[in-house]
Amino acid sequence: MVRQIEFTHPEPPPLTGRVWPVFLPFAGCPHRCLFCAQDKQTGHAPASRDQADLQAVFDTLAQDLESALDAGRAPCELAFYGGTFSALPAPWPETFLALAARYRERGLITRVRCSTRPDCVAPETLAALRALGLDMVELGIQSFDDRALAASGRGYTGKTALRGCESVREAGLALGIQLLPGLPGDHPGLFQHDAALAADLAPEIARLYPCLVVRSTPLATLWERGQYTPWSLDQAKAELAAALTLLWARSVRVIRLGLAPEDTLEANILAGPWHPALGQSVRGLALLSLVRDAVRRLGRSPSRLDVPRRHQGELLGHSRELAAHYQALGLDRATIRYVDTPYFVLT
Ligand code: SF4
Repeated sequence: MVRQIEFTHPEPPPLTGRVWPVFLPFAGCPHRCLFCAQDKQTGHAPASRDQADLQAVFDTLAQDLESALDAGRAPCELAFYGGTFSALPAPWPETFLALAARYRERGLITRVRCSTRPDCVAPETLAALRALGLDMVELGIQSFDDRALAASGRGYTGKTALRGCESVREAGLALGIQLLPGLPGDHPGLFQHDAALAADLAPEIARLYPCLVVRSTPLATLWERGQYTPWSLDQAKAELAAALTLLWARSVRVIRLGLAPEDTLEANILAGPWHPALGQSVRGLALLSLVRDAVRRLGRSPSRLDVPRRHQGELLGHSRELAAHYQALGLDRATIRYVDTPYFVLT
């Protein structure tokens, strides 16, 4: 009989270093996507394709970088988010990257990343951006499924999404993949298939944002007409936990689960799987599946579970929501111990 099972948490070690986000809401986007509310997600008013807005972002950033340098701030990674960076009107991509390069030379910036669409990453564009100092591209893939992409008006196919990821890697840039499960056109199994395809592409990081209905978006109109039903919170938790387990097993760092709680976002969510502690719940569920698997391998009711202390906050999910599941396995306050070892032990 197996006396005890030891296992480690499968999450890859986090990347170290602080990220300095620069928001360019909707800048460079060929159109507004059905679900997108970058202004409310980020709490930043949109910078349109108009150069004057980008000039204002640039001027503020230049000032802030100089002040940070004067103040002796620790080096960090600069990240251009919220729009389609690789499709910004000329000369903005090169202007922003030249600014970043100046502060890289002076030791403040260590790395530069941007977010963009998979249909805006032609090899020559990526080569040019890399030569100017770009290190990483996060692609807003959302889905690899033609039906979901068409129903969501993304304007590209699953093949383009895959090709976009390959182009980023072939350009020698680090790849990030953002998925948006529960879009119009969703169907059972789609998200797990998307997560598996994403894992196959071996991105450095992934972000998983279940689709929300946000005020003043075209998706809100569909939802009001009864033509779109978002995922429930329970479905989102279960689907995300399964995808997280899969991505961890393939050494992909999942750096975001659900949109970050911003006041401007929360006030404008009309429907969908939103909870400020969604990430904690999902990580807890993923961990529960690992413990269940260990109990199966143990082959009997466990008498004790040692949990590395750094996982204490997620073991029982949010507000002890998973306590009953652990009790069903025979594990409770008396039999779960938090320890200073890096591995779990089930006896
Ligand atoms: S989802 Fe991406 S491409 Fe679409 S409008 Fe929003 S930022 Fe632009």
